[in-house]
Amino acid sequence: MTANLHTDTEWETVIGLEVHVQLLTHSKIFSGCSTRFGAEPNSQACALDLGLPGTLPVLNKEALNMAIKFGLSTSSEISPLSVFSRKNYFYPDLPKGYQISQYDKPTIGKGFLDVEFKDSEDKLVKKRIGITRAHLEEDAGKSLHENFHNLSGIDLNRAGTPLLEIVSEPDIRSAKEAIAYLKKLHALVCYLGICDGNMQEGSFRCDANVSVRPKGSDKLGTRTETKNVNSFKFVEQAINHEVSRQIQLIESGGTVRQQTRLFDPVKQETRPMRDKEEANDYRYFPDPDLLPVMITPEHIERIKAIMPELPDAKCERFATQYGLTPYDAQTLTAEKAIADYFEQALKLMSKPEPKLMANWVMGELSAVLNKENLDITQSLLSPKAFAELVDRIVDNTISGKIAKVVFEHMWASKGTQSADEIIQAKGLKQVTDTGAIEKIVDDVIANNLDQFKELQSGKDKLFGFFVGQVMKLSKGQANPQQVNDILMAKIKQG
Ligand code: ADP
Ligand code: MG
Repeated sequence: MTANLHTDTEWETVIGLEVHVQLLTHSKIFSGCSTRFGAEPNSQACALDLGLPGTLPVLNKEALNMAIKFGLSTSSEISPLSVFSRKNYFYPDLPKGYQISQYDKPTIGKGFLDVEFKDSEDKLVKKRIGITRAHLEEDAGKSLHENFHNLSGIDLNRAGTPLLEIVSEPDIRSAKEAIAYLKKLHALVCYLGICDGNMQEGSFRCDANVSVRPKGSDKLGTRTETKNVNSFKFVEQAINHEVSRQIQLIESGGTVRQQTRLFDPVKQETRPMRDKEEANDYRYFPDPDLLPVMITPEHIERIKAIMPELPDAKCERFATQYGLTPYDAQTLTAEKAIADYFEQALKLMSKPEPKLMANWVMGELSAVLNKENLDITQSLLSPKAFAELVDRIVDNTISGKIAKVVFEHMWASKGTQSADEIIQAKGLKQVTDTGAIEKIVDDVIANNLDQFKELQSGKDKLFGFFVGQVMKLSKGQANPQQVNDILMAKIKQG
């Protein structure tokens, strides 16, 4: 080994990701049992999910169609013939003793995903990440180790839930690229409507395969696989930890073992779980209970016809249909739920103003959601309530500034109070009565006579001061345009 490889500028990181996407079908992949999350343990596990002898699996067509949708959206090969195989291993939450998965003939073959991220000089780079394959499989149950007085409980509700495992090529070169890929993939499966995207509930989880090699080498280093990381932040931390651990290990004369590891978010480190199995340890063989899956060109055409609008197309449409800047269109369409909220709220406005609505969704609303760590689907304000607030700016009932105050009150009331109720109750309505504004302007002039004379004799800088004073006296409620007009008239009057 080369001596003195001290910095990571001399090492290259290689990452390949395996992502388990829980498919949004109503029933399980091989049984009719419900897949709803959060039910009483074992209330959604039928004879087949329990692995009882004499039961026979039947493929859920909806799960297959979802895999095809994914394949189409990533320009992937869709196999005319794919095969389900048994992957044999023992685990208490796997009663059959094998998992039904796909091995050498997956439904979805090679494809790619184009991702964008900022490089170390903050320049936006585009990169194509190869997808090796995506295969359909069933999830296992769950072992529960808490609250059982030193015993473990098994919940088989999750057993048989359909998963699409998406395997990337080892094309990824940093944690940052990995996150860009994951976020794009996450947005895509949500857009496709094949996954609810809920990472906390495990609907989208990632195994990160990481290795390092001397820069310039084209041989892959030994990898470790960190299992089931379920947040973007944790994936980034797990990869970064693993990269420095491996470099340190090699530089101090050790070798990386091919291992399965677990990430501990509290200690921010990965720990070994077991030495990695090779495929032949699983004794894969075609499941004799399931026929090979045939997909005809007509079937693919039928799915093509019902493909939803995807992120890039939506972004383009937002720019042209609503006259938004590319940046605004990009931000609003990065997540389907945000794009949906924006469009719903916009449609509900009395007089739709796309730019103003975009500013409010990306500004005030995003800020408070961020602060409270909420998803837009958990917004305390419905699109309708939000539309009414923005309507009141358009129809001049309140200024944009006062609208922020109204928004805060609406949020604090958890959406129980409407914009109009708050404007009414707090007396925040904009003053548009010319007489009333003129009176305030006169008061301000009387109190600042010297400055007013300077303003009249051409010291334009003071204009802002006078507008400010009038707004202050009116508690921000005077119509700013009217204040300007009246003040102008007063200056000219002499
Ligand atoms: P397994 O199922 O045993 O984990 P797979 O071939 O299904 O193996 O997937 C392995 C994943 O690991 C792929 O995403 C692949 O790109 C990635 N990978 C393979 N070799 C390396 C390596 N040396 N370094 C980093 N990632 C790797
Ligand atoms: Mg793996």
